[in-house]
Amino acid sequence: MKFGGSSVEAAPAIERVVEIVRARLARRPVVVVSAMGKTTRRLLEIGDAAARGDLGQAHEMVDELRELHARAAEAVTAEPDRARLDAALAGRFGELRRTVSEIVAARALAPRLADEVAAYGELLASEILTLALRRGGLDAAFLDCRTLIVTDDRFTRAEPLYEATDERLRAAVLPLVAEGRVPVLGGYVGATPEGVTTTLGREGSDFTAAIVGAALDAEEVQIWTDVDGMLTTDPRLVPAARLIRTLSFAEALELASAGAKVLHPGTLGPAGRKGLPVRILSSRRPVDPSRDSDNGAGTLIGRRGAAPPHVKSIAFRRNAYLLRATAEDGAGAAVRETAGRLGPAVLWLGEHEGAALLALDRADRLPEVLDQLLQVARVEVLAGRPVVSLVSEDLTDGGALAAATLDAAAAAGAADARLVADGTACAAVRILAEEEDVARLVTRLHQELFDGPAGEAVP
Ligand code: ADP
Ligand code: ASP
Ligand code: MG
Repeated sequence: MKFGGSSVEAAPAIERVVEIVRARLARRPVVVVSAMGKTTRRLLEIGDAAARGDLGQAHEMVDELRELHARAAEAVTAEPDRARLDAALAGRFGELRRTVSEIVAARALAPRLADEVAAYGELLASEILTLALRRGGLDAAFLDCRTLIVTDDRFTRAEPLYEATDERLRAAVLPLVAEGRVPVLGGYVGATPEGVTTTLGREGSDFTAAIVGAALDAEEVQIWTDVDGMLTTDPRLVPAARLIRTLSFAEALELASAGAKVLHPGTLGPAGRKGLPVRILSSRRPVDPSRDSDNGAGTLIGRRGAAPPHVKSIAFRRNAYLLRATAEDGAGAAVRETAGRLGPAVLWLGEHEGAALLALDRADRLPEVLDQLLQVARVEVLAGRPVVSLVSEDLTDGGALAAATLDAAAAAGAADARLVADGTACAAVRILAEEEDVARLVTRLHQELFDGPAGEAVP
């Protein structure tokens, strides 16, 4: 069971989490938790202030974060655990101040130090949630994720070393579960084999949950968040967005890569390889498992079923750059292969007369991406534009759904936008849009495609 930042943003949310876990004790849960609310962003801002040499501002922000954590933690911790809480807060914030001093001295936020700063969010949240579960009468056991998730040293986007990670997770977690205890660990954070702190990249707690679930041969990975599941598009843009009941791993990967923030694309790696079902659920509106099982709730991502073909969802992301890679003689396949390796930051938009068009959403990856692409192609860097993706694995099966989708895009006024290509992981129709058109375009497309009964598309 993974709980995202909004699910633990303050004391009342944490108390809801305790009840959600308690109601599912019979299924022998393991808990993965994100940093509280916007803590990760705050920590990285602290790192930036320290890198500018602004120690005063950095310390002010550290104190604010401490206040936020102390307030929530005191409200959810029972008296006998108070000393333990005070020690945890004093310890973590003391370490954070030392890290801040190290950054001030270096006058730069090197990726290694960015990860060290960011990691405090998950460490704090997992310690606090452990105490809250204990107050709720659950025998929760805190585990330090840095001792379990072993990664390479690509700071800010580390990849797990699965063999070592799986071994450590099984050794540490399974005995606790067998004793009826509830292990709790932070997501997003790991460490190299030498013990240097790393992170899996922003939003990486979902990924941790899948790594843990796959290592333990779990029944299911539950991603508890602030929406009912994967919806037909981002509800912040289209409030009428509807719940999608089921998705294949390939479709979920496509949506996550194309910008549907509710799930980190990395999650689908370990889960897909094992066929481990992933369910997205709302921590604001959980079902009561004494009456209904979770099995009917949220979005279930699993092996592909025999659902009728329709577009599953619309995702969009703003990209920092567009890259036009013109392959040297016959190197088209090499460009495609390189782009695949660099994904999901690099989104494949299609090929035209020997040139591949790629969208890159992380400006900090540009040097590395250029370095790799230049080995196989000439590369032009263009200003970024948003990409809207209409995702369905069924688009590959027959022309009818693809054609209907293109018609819907045209009807939604996307004629001026360019329809670029099919997807990589599975089929997606992608539209290159202008920033100011995204909201109107997604809203119209959503109307065209999802105006039928109960969440089914009208292709
Ligand atoms: P958490 O803190 O639980 O990890 P996130 O903020 O990372 O939660 O993800 C949840 C948010 O993802 C939702 O509030 C929603 O605005 C956004 N989102 C974007 N696309 C979708 C989609 N297709 N379905 C559901 N939510 C989406
Ligand atoms: N706390 C981390 C972030 O904000 C990881 C996560 O929430 O998944 O990016
Ligand atoms: Mg998230």
